[in-house]
Amino acid sequence: MSLPWLRDPWRQLVADFHSQRFGHAHCIPDRKGLGAEAYTHTLVKFLLCLEPSQQACGKCKSCLLMAAGTHPDYYDVASEDNRAIGVDKIRELTQKLQQTASQHGSKVAWIKDAHRMTTEAANALLKTLEEPSANTYLILSPERTSDLLPTLRSRMRLHTFHEPNQTAVESWLTQQLGRTLSEPERIRSQQFQGAPLTALAALKGEMADPVDFVQIIAYAMMNDAPWPQPKKDDVQQWLEASLAWLQELVRIRQRVAQQRLHYPQLAQSAQEWLQREQISVTTLNGWLALCYNLRKITREQSGLNLPLLLQQQWLQWKQRP
Ligand SMILES: [Zn+2]
Repeated sequence: MSLPWLRDPWRQLVADFHSQRFGHAHCIPDRKGLGAEAYTHTLVKFLLCLEPSQQACGKCKSCLLMAAGTHPDYYDVASEDNRAIGVDKIRELTQKLQQTASQHGSKVAWIKDAHRMTTEAANALLKTLEEPSANTYLILSPERTSDLLPTLRSRMRLHTFHEPNQTAVESWLTQQLGRTLSEPERIRSQQFQGAPLTALAALKGEMADPVDFVQIIAYAMMNDAPWPQPKKDDVQQWLEASLAWLQELVRIRQRVAQQRLHYPQLAQSAQEWLQREQISVTTLNGWLALCYNLRKITREQSGLNLPLLLQQQWLQWKQRP
């Protein structure tokens, strides 16, 4: 495991596997900025390997089939174009999992974007979770563990990742870039706390800066300036930025340490504004819940006018409780 913050969870997982304490159903949240996808892919290969030790051996027939992308006992399901994962796809998967493995090893199914499963699809999985066939592993990767139905969650092992602290992130970034970070880079990397891979991509200039969206929202909120006009193709970014800004306001309101803030440059004006407007953590959490709900319904239903719905939420922020 090349990412240092994933080494301990990996070691634990391998130890549990070799002592038969592994279980067959796993929820591994897709923490993109932490490298969760690579972690899960490593686990899939490990489970399919015929002679695994600390990792998949890379040499057995199963490993070679996996490397070629033609392993007959590996199945994955993912959302297409951010659409919901329907019950048909899940039924097809569970039927395949009931068949005997063709490589005399394990069968592994990986449901990516598991938060996009419809309730009916999730229910179709329950039976497989309750009565698993032998040597069958099921891995679900939702965006957040809480996105899954409680009935599913209670039947799976829930994996969590500990985010590395800022010092560890900075030393990892230094290592990756092969040089020390400049002061602006250091401040910039703080904005991606809990997401060192995203921080690295940002410092390498490989991604559009999400900070601008947050800054525009923060400015509109605190200065009674006009709100942005989200369009269909950027409205998701505005929604994510809205969530990020509300989460930051909660941190600021709770007076967490400066180094744990994602947008330290906005902290002072936000602190003054929160006091002046007498906005409580409860109010902020209420707005956050509405935003999460908006994200949830747009995933489950198509044809909604998300730009309009988001603008309506922003207007609610202006109506003080
Ligand atoms: Zn192998």
